[in-house]
Amino acid sequence: MDRQQEFVLRTIEERDIRFVRLWFTDVLGTLKSVAIAPAELEGAFAEGIGFDGSVIEGFARVFESDMLAKPDPATFQVLPWRGEAPGTARMFCDIMLPDGTPSIADPRNVLKRALAKCADMGYTFYIHPEIEFFLLKQGWKPGERPEPIDQAGYFDHVPKGMAHDFRRAAIQMLEAIGISVEFSHHEGAPGQNEIDLRYADALTTSDNIMTFRTVVKEVALERDIYATFMPKVFAEHPGSGMHTHMSLFQGDANAFFEAGAPYQLSTVARQFIAGILRHGAEITAVTNQWVNSYKRIWGGGEAPAHITWGHNNTSAMVRVPMYKPLKGQSSRVEVRTIDAACNPYLAYAVTLAAGLKGIEEGYELPPETEDDVWSLTRNERRALGIEPLPSSLSEAITAMERSELVAETLGEHVFDFFLRNKRREWEDYRHQVTAFELERLLPRL
Ligand code: GLU
Ligand code: MG
Ligand code: MG
Repeated sequence: MDRQQEFVLRTIEERDIRFVRLWFTDVLGTLKSVAIAPAELEGAFAEGIGFDGSVIEGFARVFESDMLAKPDPATFQVLPWRGEAPGTARMFCDIMLPDGTPSIADPRNVLKRALAKCADMGYTFYIHPEIEFFLLKQGWKPGERPEPIDQAGYFDHVPKGMAHDFRRAAIQMLEAIGISVEFSHHEGAPGQNEIDLRYADALTTSDNIMTFRTVVKEVALERDIYATFMPKVFAEHPGSGMHTHMSLFQGDANAFFEAGAPYQLSTVARQFIAGILRHGAEITAVTNQWVNSYKRIWGGGEAPAHITWGHNNTSAMVRVPMYKPLKGQSSRVEVRTIDAACNPYLAYAVTLAAGLKGIEEGYELPPETEDDVWSLTRNERRALGIEPLPSSLSEAITAMERSELVAETLGEHVFDFFLRNKRREWEDYRHQVTAFELERLLPRL
């Protein structure tokens, strides 16, 4: 047993932990949990805990369903919302096949592979997400309009506001579980809030996002509120994104920084952006994986709409923030398409792979665009090489299907499962007759 594993066992004894939750994530980004008694833990570290993978979305075909969940001791945390003694703790797991090889279906493993490639190229990938979500009143029923908990807007401070108290409680809980929060504020829409996590490596951040979603939902439930990461809840208000700031480091040095270059952006940074743009349409099905995701990214509500970059352009897929670079270490690019209902492991794996491809192939960065893209006609935009983001899940799937980059990054198993699943979602959706059609057409036709 290694030192980290010993530390976990000792802490469990000292803190009187009676339940250890083993967490992992299915291909669609749903958190899965199995609780084991502390006595089982030594075995779990050595061999993993067996489970039936065929009932987990995307994990296995029925005839090869035996899988093992092996806890990663580096992710051990006591869960504060379960109260103190006897306590509950959790660890994220790596998923293995019975022979001990990593499962090709495990999203954490997909990201680890992408990160290994990044490390081979000499870089560490750091990210920080701005996570947006809605707080709604409990009790919504199908057919009804969801009701936000307040009518506040961007940066509003509502005296005695529920959202303010909520953010305070959520942040305290996140900090108690080892997740550092950088900023938080009310967002633009009624009931909409944002919490930004501090920079960390991409694997830690992805684990943190999975924890974050659970914490936010738990804290909301304690207050009889419903928290949702659905990308677009209200047609007339902004949706919820998960803009993510990204940079590559070489040792202690930010490889995106070059003093004196335009926007202090190094060639590596320019090529990284170029990669994300060139493969932008191909990776969107993964970063924006639901039918509903596409109701957000068409142009309104400060969400991105075009496969372009700029420094002051809310409709661009990639933005270069102009905060004062702190000795260059804070140089970064902000990818704005990603939404908070994605599978973070897969979304960051494909985005990183696209950026790295840009570096490997030395892609040229096209000129930046400003917000006035809106005043151009569609043809003028085309002539300037400004393409819109996929306008539906169907378009995004079509672009992904042809992508060698995404197939290679996800691996054949996840790639095929994801496409099959998303095609089915689109089919389920496309034959619906919506309220929009009835209201618009029935009186006329
Ligand atoms: N809610 C916007 C979006 O969907 C982002 C607003 C902001 O700039 O933070 O992307
Ligand atoms: Mg925001
Ligand atoms: Mg942002």
